Amino acid sequence: MALSKLKEFCVAEDATELDACIARYGDNALILGGGSFIHGLEARGLLSEVEALVDISRLGLGGAESSSRGLRLGATATYAQVEKLAEVRSAAWLGAVRDALTYPPLQVKNVATVGGCLAAACPFFDLPTAFLALDGRVSLSRAGAIREIGLAELFTGLFENCLESGELITALQLPMPTARSASAFLKLETTANDLAIVNAAVRLSLDAGGACREARVVLGGGVGDRITRAVSAEKLLQGQKLDADVLRRAAEAAGADISPMQDHRASAAYRLAMAKVFTKRALEKALDRLNRGGEA
Ligand SMILES: Cc1cc2nc3c(=O)[nH]c(=O)nc-3n(C[C@H](O)[C@H](O)[C@H](O)COP(=O)(O)OP(=O)(O)OC[C@H]3O[C@@H](n4cnc5c(N)ncnc54)[C@H](O)[C@@H]3O)c2cc1C
Repeated sequence: MALSKLKEFCVAEDATELDACIARYGDNALILGGGSFIHGLEARGLLSEVEALVDISRLGLGGAESSSRGLRLGATATYAQVEKLAEVRSAAWLGAVRDALTYPPLQVKNVATVGGCLAAACPFFDLPTAFLALDGRVSLSRAGAIREIGLAELFTGLFENCLESGELITALQLPMPTARSASAFLKLETTANDLAIVNAAVRLSLDAGGACREARVVLGGGVGDRITRAVSAEKLLQGQKLDADVLRRAAEAAGADISPMQDHRASAAYRLAMAKVFTKRALEKALDRLNRGGEA
């Protein structure tokens, strides 16, 4: 039965109330972001021991801050709020975020949060793939102790993260790339609003001579138990003039870095083939953004 052990819905007004609620229930307290994935966790039998839902929406963890160092998104910022940011709407280096936000339905965008999409550690979500391609880092807090980790460290397995008991994601930092950069994201889905069969996010940075100074290629959507950096593809792109042949070879190389799964929506072989196709298209899209000087 859904949340059959639930005893308390705690709306934490400040850190003291948050800590007190977590202390009362320990591992059986579940942090609530937008709540849009609670049904997904329940369906997978992951909520059977939950005794308290802890709403963190009043802790002042929302908002966004843009600076020369990049973009900082608060954990309770919703997808809709992120989508409205001027930088997300226009900056070439944030193109992957802009693209990923075109997929979820409006109702979900109005509630789903940055912290929730990351903590869920669901390899089928779209925003985390884009955030990893942008070298995202997450700030974590637990009873006043604060630490920061790279996004890749957060994901430890299918629906598993490295958060310690009672630890909260408080923010995500997306560092400003040091060279001229653009990013892009693409998703393969069976029907609109479906979870990804495969998704791909890339970021390309060019040096003054037009060669690739740095590349990020990230694949998600069932290409493994977590979203994955395709390091072989990145290495192949680095230092190269990005012509059609280099993009094709990089996309082919990306296949070596993933272990696609088979499920009711796609075979492993189909996912592998589509991962290469979507890597190539995402690379072309990012390069097109760079060539246009930003927007697209
Ligand atoms: C109809 C529908 C369509 C969707 N379509 C898409 C789509 O097209 N693309 C896509 O990417 N996603 C899609 N999603 C999934 C959506 O992105 C997730 O449901 C959302 O990201 C979860 O965020 P949330 O804030 O609602 O998390 P919640 O449901 O509140 O929480 C999810 C998990 O994260 C934990 N958590 C939440 N916040 C924190 C925090 N700050 N610190 C620590 N732990 C935390 C919770 O305890 C829970 O384990 C869809 C969902 C639905 C219901």
